[in-house]
Amino acid sequence: MVRVRFAPSPTGYLHLGNARTALFNWLFARHEKGAFILRIEDTDAARSGEEYAAAMTEDLKWLGLNWDEGPDVGGSVGPYRQSERTPIYRKYADALLSRGLAYPCYCTPQELEGRRQEALAKGLPPRYDNRCRDLSEKDRRRFQDEGRSSSLRFKVRSGTVSFRDLVRGEVQFDLGLVGDFVIVKSEGTPTFHFAVCVDDGLMGITHVVRGEDHLSNTPRHIVLFEALGFKAPEFAHLSMIGGEGGGLLSKRDEAPSVRSYRARGILAEALVNYLALLGWSPKDNREILTGQDLVSQFSLAGLTKSRAALDHKKLEYVSGQHIRALEPQGLARRIAAHYRLNPDTPWLVELVRAVKDHLVTLTDVEPYLKIVQRETMDFGSCARETQELIRREEARKVLEAFKTSVARSGGPGGVDFHSIRQDLAQSTGLNGKALLLPVRAALTRESSGPELNLIVPLLGKERILKRVEEALQFGKS
Ligand code: GLU
Repeated sequence: MVRVRFAPSPTGYLHLGNARTALFNWLFARHEKGAFILRIEDTDAARSGEEYAAAMTEDLKWLGLNWDEGPDVGGSVGPYRQSERTPIYRKYADALLSRGLAYPCYCTPQELEGRRQEALAKGLPPRYDNRCRDLSEKDRRRFQDEGRSSSLRFKVRSGTVSFRDLVRGEVQFDLGLVGDFVIVKSEGTPTFHFAVCVDDGLMGITHVVRGEDHLSNTPRHIVLFEALGFKAPEFAHLSMIGGEGGGLLSKRDEAPSVRSYRARGILAEALVNYLALLGWSPKDNREILTGQDLVSQFSLAGLTKSRAALDHKKLEYVSGQHIRALEPQGLARRIAAHYRLNPDTPWLVELVRAVKDHLVTLTDVEPYLKIVQRETMDFGSCARETQELIRREEARKVLEAFKTSVARSGGPGGVDFHSIRQDLAQSTGLNGKALLLPVRAALTRESSGPELNLIVPLLGKERILKRVEEALQFGKS
């Protein structure tokens, strides 16, 4: 059975790159009817934060990427937080030590850095020179007596490592370029390499799907799997995500967080759809896919080698399509949840029906919401230009005429702005801005905004008359 994992280090919010890795693992597991495991890689206590682990978990849930085993749901090969697995790592480290596959290293960070710089200056690979590999017992004791602490290094075998990456094809590494590396730090915590291999081995991970930035770690991991007696999983290294311009996302403009898209009102299913297309494409090249479509069509073979670039326009397109695919009731519920409104708010579904085709994200509804929700216009506190406008004689005439037309209008279809507008043009002899601006100002307090033919039916007769009356009263003052 396929067993895959998403293994984030909780050092920040879930960003697009992480989220895409999680998604591809999840899609693969769901397509193959395998297991998707969440493992929190928090061995680096200084950089990890519980609040980030919690936020990542929440964001994954929001995206709908549920896991079968993980910190909160448990499972047979837990715990699923690396910080709770210290005794396990110790046991495996001791085993490697006693089998002569690992050894204590007494080099200090300063010494290591000095030698690294030297190697670089000579144009040599800055690998560890394995100098503590063959220390005599006497040397070891001497270092200990000097009060040096020791880390534990893994003895990297000689030769090459090759594997068939499911995205990149055949990969071969010369182990001569890889120095013996630390598996347990001097303070006793495992390194990333060691914890990952012990965990992937014990958790029975069959496929490691992760970013290409880990490709150079894979030879180390393969030799560690060999030494630990685990069968190495298959690997699929995902191409990196590029910025809008095609260059790599630099550290400075780091990939945006999933929550920033959520805050902008992108639907979870739209973000999932968009992320899936960053580095993968379905056989039929369709662009709008539901979660179910993605699960049924996903295969690792569809992953692309080339870099996928963020494309804001495409995200907007995908987002708009998913918004449009919702029934008005469903969309109203999503808007209510986003704005913490009572989902039974009577006018909400009407509003959604009227403006749905104008929305690309949930938050595009905000200007309409503000207009509809306002209880009193309070013109005394609005922009000067609006105040001046509704004081003008001509504007007051328009509003009087508007009031009369609205009062006369109605019926089962509610207030229809088209006929009112014709009526107004006739009775005032005005047209264009001279006609529309005063009406807009009275109804919305603004000089621009959503189309009046959407707003008018939403407000309904009573509220319109009340607002126009307020504007006329203010104009007199
Ligand atoms: N914890 C690693 C990271 O966040 C992922 C390790 C892996 O996928 O092997 O980059």
